[in-house]
Amino acid sequence: MKQFSHSKLQTYERCPLQYKLQYLTKIKTESETTIEAFMGSQVHNVLELLYGDLLKSKLNSLDELLAAYDKNWQTEWNDEIVINDEKFKAEHYFETGRKCIQNYYEKYAPFDQDQTLGVEKKINLKWGEIEIIGYVDRLAREKDGVYAVHDYKTGSMMEQAYADKDRQLALYSIAIKQKFKEAKRVKLIWHYVNFGEDVISERTDQQLEELKADMLKLIGEINRAEKEDNFPARETKCEWCGFWEHCPKKKHLFKVAKLPKNKYLNDSGVKLSNKYIELVGKKSEINKEARTQAELIDEEMEKIEEAILKYAEKHDFEALQGSEARVIINKKIGYDFPTKSSDEKNYAVLEDILKDSKYWKDISTINSSKLEQLLMDDAIEVKIRKKIVALAPLKESVRFSIKKK
Ligand code: SF4
Repeated sequence: MKQFSHSKLQTYERCPLQYKLQYLTKIKTESETTIEAFMGSQVHNVLELLYGDLLKSKLNSLDELLAAYDKNWQTEWNDEIVINDEKFKAEHYFETGRKCIQNYYEKYAPFDQDQTLGVEKKINLKWGEIEIIGYVDRLAREKDGVYAVHDYKTGSMMEQAYADKDRQLALYSIAIKQKFKEAKRVKLIWHYVNFGEDVISERTDQQLEELKADMLKLIGEINRAEKEDNFPARETKCEWCGFWEHCPKKKHLFKVAKLPKNKYLNDSGVKLSNKYIELVGKKSEINKEARTQAELIDEEMEKIEEAILKYAEKHDFEALQGSEARVIINKKIGYDFPTKSSDEKNYAVLEDILKDSKYWKDISTINSSKLEQLLMDDAIEVKIRKKIVALAPLKESVRFSIKKK
């Protein structure tokens, strides 16, 4: 059985190479704990304690929970925890965590709104040979038989539109419907404990079916990538990725970033890159100047053309003799076809007319960039795909581009 988790799937979507390094090659990286993450996990631990004890019929007072929070914070704190925002000190986060617990407690005490079925509950969703696993902060059944997945958040609030599209909890919703046959409805609840507010969403069976189809398609893509060992690096959210040392897009930067300035400027890669960027800059300056000049010339030519036309019409000339050459006036009657950019509506009408006619095959052309996209997305039937690839095999081309810091 092949196991996935929501974050594993998300990693692949973000950057296939990061997925490979993290889950297949399993390279260990040094990860730092931010104070936000530390505070979040301390609050989670206390809410886990609250509901864990409630399952054993013990209702902790707010003071008891805050005392547990204070104690855990002191015990688990270490100086490696990173505070990125210089405006705040550790105490600020410590107090925020306390406020989160207090907000939640005061909003829900005595916690009899529903029946807790599990805290930090493992959820596994099975589709044939595929298993998706995850953990829900709290799973509950409400009085009307509706199941609810509770997720605690100590960060900033999510908009409703995002909640209605969230995939992680929606996947848990499928798992719960699969496991508990009586679960006809599953509510997804995010508790923004710092604000004392909740965001609630729910998915229809139809939406869950669509999500399942999307996930299976994504897993199919991952399996194919594994078979072909094809995990391109895609630069998305690289600032959170710990694999710079192993990533072809970042390893040079990783290597030179720590060098002192004189060594940095002497690195061959830095030198080549600087030279190339300098040349591109020069070329673009020249092009810019040339473009400006060409525009000025175009304007002047337009005026002269108008004058030539007037003069030639007046004298019934079709050619004007210059000192070394002639200007020929070619008049031609042609059709003014609508184009996709200038007149999309009429363009579509024209296309329909021609598609229905026997002339289509003579005048339609292959749009190679669209065709390439269809092949890349695997959106072409296997039989046809094979035939196309036989005519147009994959070929590597090299193109340089410059990205500003
Ligand atoms: S650094 Fe960026 S491109 Fe490289 S593996 Fe990480 S996320 Fe992907």
